[in-house]
Amino acid sequence: MPEGPYRWFVVAELVLAAVTFVALLFVVAPYGGRHGRSGWGPTVPARVGWIVMEAPASLAFLAFYLLGAHRADVVPLLFLLLWQAHYVQRAFVYPFLMRSGSRMPVLVMLLAILFNLLNAWVNARWISEYGDYPSSWLTDARFWFGLVLFAGGYALNVGSDRILRRLRKGGTGYRVPYGGGFRYVSSPNYLGEIVEWTGWAIATWSVAGLAFALYTVANLAPRAVANHRWYRETFPDYPPERRALVPYII
Ligand code: NDP
Repeated sequence: MPEGPYRWFVVAELVLAAVTFVALLFVVAPYGGRHGRSGWGPTVPARVGWIVMEAPASLAFLAFYLLGAHRADVVPLLFLLLWQAHYVQRAFVYPFLMRSGSRMPVLVMLLAILFNLLNAWVNARWISEYGDYPSSWLTDARFWFGLVLFAGGYALNVGSDRILRRLRKGGTGYRVPYGGGFRYVSSPNYLGEIVEWTGWAIATWSVAGLAFALYTVANLAPRAVANHRWYRETFPDYPPERRALVPYII
């Protein structure tokens, strides 16, 4: 890791992961309809919020990536492709597919933009400037293991979000989801997201990737527990064997 400001940005992301985890044990972030409440200031339609807060994760990442000396190397380009596969979907596809009339506090949106800029800087600068990824990295087991985790997590995340969307085909409101990862846990979309970024951390074998994976756990694990509690309180016939986030365990 280079000396200077970059190192402090990575440390900042690690500290943010710890602070986020502790804070979310006490407060459920109100960015979705189910956990939305008043008292968080002005709001925007959730669809708008998702586009505005996630677009920097794709666009700023690309801009930061292009500053790097290794921007034309094969392995960094592959990492760029992986990142964009997730964030183009999240920022420019998912918001247009979502069936939600919920609203998002502007404050939550602004905080997410700040995080996404920090995270984009930390990860993009690592893969195209400070990290060392010769072509021989393509034969390293860490690269392939991470890639498989990333792809599996991505499929679980997108597939679970699709199952949730189908629940709204017949109208608004909330229903009990079945099938896919919902057989085992209440928030397989979050589990997929966590597996994805753990795969990224392993494939890039970097503290930058580790910081993002830890932040994802810090953000989504408490929320998965809150979702699970909400399902159990809302639906008396909720499948009792289903766990919150990790099959058979949590
Ligand atoms: P949720 O699972 O809470 O909701 C996803 C969508 O499905 C919303 O439109 C919601 O509607 C709808 N929905 C949820 N449950 C039901 C149900 N039982 N019946 C009908 N509709 C339902 O996910 P989030 O909004 O928290 O997150 C969305 C995506 O963003 C996920 O893929 C998640 O992994 C990702 N994400 C990633 C983060 C990270 O740190 N990397 C942080 C946050 C999210 P409504 O809005 O009306 O509740």
